[in-house]
Amino acid sequence: MDPNVEKLRIIIEESTNIVFFGGAGVSTESGIPDFRSVDGLYNQKWKYPPETILSHTFFTRDPEEYYRFHHEKLSVRGFRPNQAHLRLAELEKQGKLKAVITQNIDGLHQAAGSRNVLELHGTLHRAYCSRCRRPYDAAVLEEPGVPHCTCGGVIRPDIVLYEESLNEKVLSDSIRYIRNADVLIVGGTSLNVYPAAGLINYYNGDKLVLINLSATPYDSYADLVIHEKIGQVFSMV
Ligand code: ZN
Repeated sequence: MDPNVEKLRIIIEESTNIVFFGGAGVSTESGIPDFRSVDGLYNQKWKYPPETILSHTFFTRDPEEYYRFHHEKLSVRGFRPNQAHLRLAELEKQGKLKAVITQNIDGLHQAAGSRNVLELHGTLHRAYCSRCRRPYDAAVLEEPGVPHCTCGGVIRPDIVLYEESLNEKVLSDSIRYIRNADVLIVGGTSLNVYPAAGLINYYNGDKLVLINLSATPYDSYADLVIHEKIGQVFSMV
């Protein structure tokens, strides 16, 4: 194991103002595939890349195909939090961690017990009518076919699709937490996807920790870099 894991343990022990910023890699260890990863079978099943299917234009034009993709790739049934989610929830309870900022839409941080979770890309655990905005229980998203509102509109998940803008309050709160953080731990993201890279630029401190299996463009800016599985790392700190 990387000796930097012990350095991280000490950093966590000494801080009461930690902010965690996480990406898809946090959930892949719970078995949730990164929808961006295109496997060999992908092209046989889908005529379009995930970025197209998960766009506002596509959802509006072809909700049937959108939901075919959603049911296969975005279902959150049966997934459980891993060591990273659990340890982060524990650190919040101990008063050491101020916020979890996530790009994931699976709700696993809340399932682990985290309370202050800022979901940059929304959540699959809420749904609403795309026409009249009436809220619906997210269970309708898991039913076969396209869910419809009583008004006839198509019900959609409360996630940020491509071409849509992020929730301004979530974004400004995230910036505030990052700006004021003593320790910023960034995990499970290659920092290539907007707005991840931009957000960590707001950090002013000297304890920027990056945990990712592969190298990221920000490795040289970080004060501590750990190239290990994030669940494993959090099971040891
Ligand atoms: Zn409606």
